Order: sequence, then structure tokens, then C-alpha cells
Amino acid sequence: MARYTGAVCRLCRREGMKLFLKGTRCFTDKCAIEKRNFAPGQHGRDRKAKIVGYGLQLREKQKAKRIYFALEGQFRAYYEKASRAPGVTGELLLQQLERRLDNVAYRLGYASSRRQARQIVRHGHIEVNGRKVNIPSFQVSVGDEIKIRPNSAKLTVVESSREFASHQPAPAWLSVDHANLSGKVLALPRREDVNLPVNEQLIVELYSK
Ligand code: SF4
Repeated sequence: MARYTGAVCRLCRREGMKLFLKGTRCFTDKCAIEKRNFAPGQHGRDRKAKIVGYGLQLREKQKAKRIYFALEGQFRAYYEKASRAPGVTGELLLQQLERRLDNVAYRLGYASSRRQARQIVRHGHIEVNGRKVNIPSFQVSVGDEIKIRPNSAKLTVVESSREFASHQPAPAWLSVDHANLSGKVLALPRREDVNLPVNEQLIVELYSK
């Protein structure tokens, strides 16, 4: 299962904004955007060209991919599926990204970043409807119950994320039981539930060329 293993702060620097990929560090003055808010690389400081047209569409796509840690092939597959389904393609695309199990684990407060949540899923600490699921891209459905497995509840990472989660309200489409480290999918996420700086329309324009 391929995944991005490079430095993540440079991804934020490329987009010129905080993508919150490193959990608690993102809220400190150690954040690379606070210290070096210019593009990475030898000439990053010098590049001042205005981004228009295709460049804008590309940046929006890259930003969404990076926030959810999806690679190009999988991201395109989400778009293809969204474009075939009835409804607004951009919204359906974001909906699939939000329904990923690693994202849901992050939204429920089991980890302080999506990347950490992905690892918790991969290591088999999450169960869906009572069965272990270790596939980060698993799509949750309405009515699914997501829980930290009993033997995993004492994990340091989960314990330390509880405080982080208390500062981050869960979205309306999920119900959260912090005491029992469980949650339930109440509805499919809508655009207004996805509180992220992504213009999905530009992504659709990019792929539909
Ligand atoms: Fe991005 Fe977080 Fe790194 Fe800051 S600390 S650059 S928000 S990943």
C-alpha cells in the first residue's frame, strides 16, 4: 500500500498555508509556516509568479490530496466515481474523502492528525461494527459504529489525543462518545460539514478537461 513518506511541512509550505498534517506541532511556533512561509527548495523564496488557470486548479487538487493523504491514482478514482454518480461531483468527491476510515478516526479524536489516524488504523486498533478494519481508505456508511478496540484504548497516542479532541468539535454527521472511545455515522457528510479550505469546483474542472 503506497503512501507519501517525505517531509510533510514542505507540503504546507508549497501550498502557502497550514494543512495541519502534524497534529499538536501545527499549533506551536515550531510550525514551518510560522517560521518559513515560502515555497520549499533552493529558489522557493524568489518565486513570486501569480498562479492562474491550470495552476490554480492543480494547487487545489494537490491541497486536497495532501490534506487526506491520498495518492494520485486513488484520488482520481474518487473523482471518477463521483462524476458517474447522480449529484454535485465536487461535493461527492469531498464526501468520499471524508468517509475514509482514517479521516473518521481523526474526526472522532483518536489521533491528533490524519497521518497519525492512518497509522492507528493500519496497526489494527480500530473496529467498525465490532470487526477489526485496518484499511485507511475503508468507506464508512450511515449507521456504522466506529470504536477503538478494547486492548488499544490505553495507547499513549490515543490517550494524548483525547485532550486535542476536546478542543476540536466533531462534525454534525458523526456522534462521538469520548468516554467509550466510540462514534457513530449519523448521516453522509455535506459540503458545509467539510470545514476545509478546498475549492472542489476547481478540482472538477481540472479532471474534466
Ligand atoms: Fe503544516 Fe503542521 Fe508542519 Fe505547520 S507544523 S507546516 S501546519 S504540518
